[in-house]
Amino acid sequence: MGIDEKLEPILAEVLRRNPGESEFHQAVTEVLHSLGPVIAKHPEYADSALIERLCEPERQIIFRVPWQDDAGKVQIARGFRVQFNSALGPYKGGLRFHPTVNLGIIKFLGFEQTFKNALTGMPIGGGKGGSDFNPRGRSDAEVMRFCQSFMTELHRHIGEYTDVPAGDIGVGGREIGYMFGQYKRLTNRYEAGVLTGKGLAYGGSRARTEATGYGASYFVNRMLGARKQSFEGKRVVVSGSGNVALYTMEKLIQFGAKIVACSDSGGYVVDENGIDLALVKELKEVRRSRISEYAKMKGGSARHVERGSVWDVPCDVAMPSATQNELTGKDARVLIKNGIVAVGEGANMPSTPDAVRAFQEAGVLFAPGKAANAGGVATSALEMQQNASRDSWTFEQTEARLAEIMKNIHDTCARTAEEYGAPGDYVLGANIAGFIRVAEAMRSLGVI
Ligand code: GLU
Repeated sequence: MGIDEKLEPILAEVLRRNPGESEFHQAVTEVLHSLGPVIAKHPEYADSALIERLCEPERQIIFRVPWQDDAGKVQIARGFRVQFNSALGPYKGGLRFHPTVNLGIIKFLGFEQTFKNALTGMPIGGGKGGSDFNPRGRSDAEVMRFCQSFMTELHRHIGEYTDVPAGDIGVGGREIGYMFGQYKRLTNRYEAGVLTGKGLAYGGSRARTEATGYGASYFVNRMLGARKQSFEGKRVVVSGSGNVALYTMEKLIQFGAKIVACSDSGGYVVDENGIDLALVKELKEVRRSRISEYAKMKGGSARHVERGSVWDVPCDVAMPSATQNELTGKDARVLIKNGIVAVGEGANMPSTPDAVRAFQEAGVLFAPGKAANAGGVATSALEMQQNASRDSWTFEQTEARLAEIMKNIHDTCARTAEEYGAPGDYVLGANIAGFIRVAEAMRSLGVI
């Protein structure tokens, strides 16, 4: 689809002012390409430079993070927090620790987060942060010292009513614990609502660990259901083997699917008997080892492939759950040739624009990340609710809320796509529905 003529110069200006930030360009380009129909119907949404303001983060913080490794050597990492939009609530979004992190990556993630959080219907704005620190191969003590140093700067910029970080790639329960400990120590306040993804021992929510993967599974299940299909007996490939991938596999197995492959940055494993999830969990959550170990320990039915793409494995449903731009146009064409029915993005922007186009042209059901993976942040908002009321809900109660939220997100995207003349286009539906929520709030708040 071409871009609306009012939006074209806005996009050109965003690209010009943010040179070299290719992922940010990609995220903004996709959203602005979707907004034509809504601007045509509601020209007031383009007043007061609303769209220009939406593309400019409210605040961007970059800081030095010095830390000492186990050998006593001082290392320097770079820390980021991009507070993108707070029209709907305090900035909310994860922290990513990965060597590829730079300002453009954090801006793309913060931009996506703003729309995703709006889609949840919860009172949360959008933000994202992280560091180019590489946790791979680092000891617990090194990770703790890094997290403490990172929080020593970050703490002055966040708070229950200001900005509430959580996890993302490289940041899980261990890191959140160390960061919460340091925040508590620096502020002398037990402010549970300042971070989410906390452990159950100190204010975390049940089902938060499972929420992103479970939520993506619920979303795709409903998308299939709308076409009188289900996961029962479907072959599914899940990329990655981190938090999102593990709990996507768990829920899809409950839904009757067979998971035939998963991966990490060192390759992928195929197991025609169905991936043994207990073993993958042991390898990834406990031992923090490589997925290649799976084939070594399993033998027989399992094989590890070092080169090539996990998307070469024939399947009915693909759940890209690793990282941005991991599924290319070439991969999409292989999946289409192998008869794929649906794609559900568990990661943020895992499909390249070329891949998305190929799926849509081939009539493959496509659930974009900002809708499909919103269950994680939605459950973070439930964690904030529990913290604010000093309450703690059961797993069943929390999962039921998550399932309800995912159903609403699905239905909102589907209805919006239909209303704007593109039935079945969940990309357009998600972008427009998320945009309208943020735009309504921004218009009420005046030019700020
Ligand atoms: N990093 C997750 C995401 O991409 C979760 C963010 C959160 O819970 O705040 O949505």
